[in-house]
Amino acid sequence: MNQDVILTGMRPTGALHIGHYVGVIKNMVALQKTHPCFFFLADWHALSALYDKTDIVRASRYEYVKGWVAAGVDPKVSPIFKQSDIVETLKLNQFFQCLTPPGWADRSPSWKDFMNNPNADRKLDNLGFFTYPILQAADIAIVGGKLVPVGADQVSHIEIAREIVRKFNRVYKAKLPEPEAYLSEVPKLPGIDGGLKMSSSIGNTISMNETEKSLQKKVNKIKTDDTRGDMANPGNPDNCTVCEYHKVFSPKETCDRVFAACRSASIGCGECKLVLGESMKKELLPIADKFNQITDTMCDEILADGALRARAVTKKVWAEVEAVTKF
Ligand code: SF4
Repeated sequence: MNQDVILTGMRPTGALHIGHYVGVIKNMVALQKTHPCFFFLADWHALSALYDKTDIVRASRYEYVKGWVAAGVDPKVSPIFKQSDIVETLKLNQFFQCLTPPGWADRSPSWKDFMNNPNADRKLDNLGFFTYPILQAADIAIVGGKLVPVGADQVSHIEIAREIVRKFNRVYKAKLPEPEAYLSEVPKLPGIDGGLKMSSSIGNTISMNETEKSLQKKVNKIKTDDTRGDMANPGNPDNCTVCEYHKVFSPKETCDRVFAACRSASIGCGECKLVLGESMKKELLPIADKFNQITDTMCDEILADGALRARAVTKKVWAEVEAVTKF
């Protein structure tokens, strides 16, 4: 096993869906087999968008723990904890805030997107969101984290975190590990409406605990190749959202067979969606079953145990910080 510590988390900001499962959670399950991992619910980060809807953050915490564990994340192997249970993060964050010039936070891609997008949620115009990369640096450093799994669009955030930790090490002659982006091939699932992003706020999602019936119903709604018209016309899987889902959930032989049949007009979209439904049910229904068996009380126990184990590490890192900073 590689000994570089990985930290990854999700902001509990609403319903969990299979876009999260495909893009983040499956990767978490794989990573905990190769690296020591810490998995956290970034509830302080969630506040920057939902400071006036804390009930959503609270309810989402349970949903996310259920989804992670149901999908195969083992809380006995890697601690699962709430960011807000780790007080040492806030203490280190204060040091990092004092070391970070505002220009560094201003370079954050999320902040730039927000500033340049006239349709962005104006509530994000707050210092919590602006200073997000600084708190993220503290999240990573306080667990001795080195690797952070991110997509290519998030690398700049980790570069900011690295510069902050590097400056801390230089100023205090400390030896905190410098964070690095851990890029992995992560498939992105479009929304069932064909939109680039699956999102609860758009309403184009499939949740992680659908029933057999509701899952097939949503599969039937996935957008197809507009130009096909009826079954007599050959289709183009490259222009079809159903094809994107097949690539994620169906075995390669099934994809090859279905896509060839689509191009030769020997399969209709209804049948193609039934095949996809079977593939998705095979993978997702056992997860949904497990999800529904996990109670809120079980989540509380997992989070309490995770916080205890994470704090055994964060207290040590904070003791080192106190020693080098003579604070
Ligand atoms: S047959 Fe399948 S891949 Fe082809 S257009 Fe219809 S849904 Fe899309």
